[in-house]
Amino acid sequence: MSDESIHELSLGELRSALDSAELSAAALTSHYLDRIEALNPLLNCVITLCRESAFSEAEAADKRRAGGAKLGALDGIPLLHKDLFCTDGTRTTCGSRMLSEWVAPYDATVVAKLRQAGAIMLGKTNMDEFAMGSSNEHSYFGLVRNPWDLGKVPGGSSGGSAAAIAARLAPLATGTDTGGSIRQPAAFCGVTGIKPTYGRVSRFGMVAFASSLDQGGLMAPRAADLAAALSIIAGADPHDSTCSNEPVDDYSEALAGATAQLPLKGLKVGLVPQHFDTGLDPAIDDAVQRAKKTLLELGAVAEEVNLERSALTVPTYYVIALAECSSNLSRYDGVRFGHRAKDVGSLDELYERSRAEGFGAEVKRRIMLGTYTLSAGYYDAYYKKAQQLRRLITDDFKQAFHQVDVILAPTTPTPPFNLAERLDDPVTMYLGDIYTCGVNLAGLPAINIPVGHNGDGLPLGAQLIGSHFSESTLLRTAHAFQCATHWHQAVPAVASSRAGTAPRG
Ligand code: GLN
Repeated sequence: MSDESIHELSLGELRSALDSAELSAAALTSHYLDRIEALNPLLNCVITLCRESAFSEAEAADKRRAGGAKLGALDGIPLLHKDLFCTDGTRTTCGSRMLSEWVAPYDATVVAKLRQAGAIMLGKTNMDEFAMGSSNEHSYFGLVRNPWDLGKVPGGSSGGSAAAIAARLAPLATGTDTGGSIRQPAAFCGVTGIKPTYGRVSRFGMVAFASSLDQGGLMAPRAADLAAALSIIAGADPHDSTCSNEPVDDYSEALAGATAQLPLKGLKVGLVPQHFDTGLDPAIDDAVQRAKKTLLELGAVAEEVNLERSALTVPTYYVIALAECSSNLSRYDGVRFGHRAKDVGSLDELYERSRAEGFGAEVKRRIMLGTYTLSAGYYDAYYKKAQQLRRLITDDFKQAFHQVDVILAPTTPTPPFNLAERLDDPVTMYLGDIYTCGVNLAGLPAINIPVGHNGDGLPLGAQLIGSHFSESTLLRTAHAFQCATHWHQAVPAVASSRAGTAPRG
């Protein structure tokens, strides 16, 4: 097998190559580690590289195979974890100075399940500090660049995972999505990313931002790659009481029949007029319309559905998310976790200076805003009202899913923007979450799929949103779409140049 093409293989193809001994897990791991070492100086998408432990995990996988064991879908497959998932023995920084040297004493459930399944951890990916952001410019470890254009943001907060998948530095990466942080960077980097139903995947060992919204998920080039991995990480967890007991589907099985004549026959796809009303970039509008046409050619039928409170999702999300963040981040006091200020004169000074030194500007802004909306005089005006709106927004989605099976929507209002463009304008930055954060408020699953490129060659994304626990339908629809289109196969010039040689672009 030619070394140069390994990273173009799907997870299924890698599985066959490993099973037939055409490829060893050690060779595969070495291939990806070399790619990371060659391209990371340019992209800054990996914070911590686990070269040694990755090789010993790969050797163990090769031994299991040599011993004749029947191997699962991810055994011997390398992956990257967003640096918000706790990893036993490897630092978990959350992109913050506060946790820059913190080593978790246990694995997050997602990490443990993937480890158990034989997956190999290559390293940890960069992210906006504490998952707060949409551009990956808010990281203590520096900004991440978009592999499609090094002058553009990769999106956030899981920007490191998205950039790494786009540049084919791993076949699979984890991410988290509180208001869009899997789907938006996936859209900006031209990869496929799934945000499961709230409670489908355990949050145990995921550093908390906004606990009623946070959900772990996955990114990969293709929906089919995600299906195999989601079956492993989904499911009940005694360590997370908000994790659902709903039985987990075999998501790979759900993909069967995608190449049949009309694989989506009878699927009702909803389009929301409010999404196309104002402010949507024309190239994204076009790409979503073309995606709709493709779905219709595959047998789906389209229908209009209303989400009346669409415009209220951003303010509602930012009140609730920031209130929860101010509460969750109160645990970083310089005593129990992370950064501790030196030479302090009193306990109050220890708290104040540890927090002042440990948190970046965006996190501080959010803690202050969240504290304000929760304060006695303003609670009813902001937090309570936002909770009421959250119910109405959820009801709008419920109503829509009485009519249709999935909603097709733009993932972002604009293509990837320039580095630094929105740094001084947080409101514009927040408004970019208009199409994603309603899904989190309602706890629904959604998947971003690449649907085109704009005139500057930048990737454009659309999302399929489903009712609670409809991951099988979303993956099946995305997979059928990807069997009929080629957008997900496009790789940026930096990734197609050979690892180790000077990249183009
Ligand atoms: N961009 C959103 C925010 O800044 C979403 C973040 C996320 O999903 N973690 O809050």
